[in-house]
Amino acid sequence: MDQFLRVAIEEAEAGLKEGGLPIGSVLVHDGRIIGRGHNRRIQQGSPILHGEMDALENAGRQPASVYKNSTLYTTLSPCAMCTGAILLYGIPRVVIGENSNFTGEEELLKSRGVVLDIRQDQDCIKLMGDFIRQHPDLWNEDIGE
Ligand SMILES: [Zn+2]
Repeated sequence: MDQFLRVAIEEAEAGLKEGGLPIGSVLVHDGRIIGRGHNRRIQQGSPILHGEMDALENAGRQPASVYKNSTLYTTLSPCAMCTGAILLYGIPRVVIGENSNFTGEEELLKSRGVVLDIRQDQDCIKLMGDFIRQHPDLWNEDIGE
């Protein structure tokens, strides 16, 4: 498996251990991880800390040239908020672990020229699927992410 998707899954598993939603993300630039994170909506009582937002936050402020040459990995298809951040910063490529439990704004991303690489990874599908079955209340609290 792609080493960076593996790290995103490790982040998702860390979030699950903390009692949160198992969604992880990694920002990769020039073959190197510059930010990694996971959904911390429950842990932080945050309405905005989805996995992708947490990875971007942990990468800190970066020059525009860095975002424009980066790939964002996420274990689950990005929601409207995270899609907005991807478009805002001009990240050209997104690797999506799976979109079978939730399909985010993929059409919007594609319409703006973002290249999507959807893996339908079985570990990602199981992590999210099990969580949704066990915690439908937490899953449904925001838009399903
Ligand atoms: Zn999101």
